[in-house]
Amino acid sequence: KLYNLVQDLKGNIRVYCRVRPFMPGQPTSLSTVENIEEGTITIRVPSKYGKEGHKPFMFNKVFGPSATQEEVFSDMQPLVRSVLDGYNVCIFAYGQTGSGKTFTMSGPKELTEESLGVNYRALADLNNSHNGINVPEANLVPVSSTDDVIQLMDVGQMNRAVSSTAMNDRSSRSHSCVTVHVQGRDRTSGAILHGSMHLVDLAGSERVDKSEVTGDRLKEAQHINKSLSALGDVISSLSQKNSHVPYRNSKLTQLLQDSLGGSAKTLMFVHVSPEAETVGETISTLKFAERVG
Ligand code: ADP
Ligand code: MG
Repeated sequence: KLYNLVQDLKGNIRVYCRVRPFMPGQPTSLSTVENIEEGTITIRVPSKYGKEGHKPFMFNKVFGPSATQEEVFSDMQPLVRSVLDGYNVCIFAYGQTGSGKTFTMSGPKELTEESLGVNYRALADLNNSHNGINVPEANLVPVSSTDDVIQLMDVGQMNRAVSSTAMNDRSSRSHSCVTVHVQGRDRTSGAILHGSMHLVDLAGSERVDKSEVTGDRLKEAQHINKSLSALGDVISSLSQKNSHVPYRNSKLTQLLQDSLGGSAKTLMFVHVSPEAETVGETISTLKFAERVG
């Protein structure tokens, strides 16, 4: 309660961080993450990436590798519930490929009840009646139950661009967005309330090695990076309460314009891999997140 109150005073933008555990069999002694405490994550920075040493980054919340899906969702639940009060909510999962974005939003490949991600938990929590997807070329499919929505999400998952490259798995090259519109009635005044929720599993944030991709793939990678930095620019100017918010610099921010800013609530959930090999990407992810918060 107190935490939410503090969050409300801080405004409508929060930034969370989650660290993926090592994969089974990996040596855990080589973690890039030195320490996690309250809202601070401390990274071991090798000299190659600036001043060698330990760099702390601060967020509204940091989840360590042992955090469960339930713990993560229960922290986000008040935000999700605010959709029923007519708020627009956007939740973004950001991070390099393999850092756990899809795990947080959807879950692992083999889903169990415990491993269900935010998408499933949020939809079940809202017990929605009404759904609309506001993207050109998208299908508007009427649904009447949470099961219908879950089936739709599975179809969406399969429709994500398929192409393997040296750097990316198939879901890394596209943003995936689940949008839910909720209509409710204020219990005291009887007024109709419209809320919406966008759950966005962003494309991988890693920079491309131009030696490894060329042609269309390179263009696509540059396009993805442009849309991610445009998103960062929008959220950062909202959190600084700038009068000009550059929504029009990418399709992603144009589409979400009505749901970002104003009274809308935004959660940027950045994901971090623990492996030392990827510390460069980890540092740029955390810098991105610090900038938007
Ligand atoms: P991304 O979507 O960012 O590319 P994934 O969500 O696919 O990354 O995660 C990469 C791998 O790590 C997957 O096998 C996933 O199941 C696993 N993983 C990610 N986060 C966690 C976690 N918190 N706990 C256990 N396994 C995880
Ligand atoms: Mg993914």
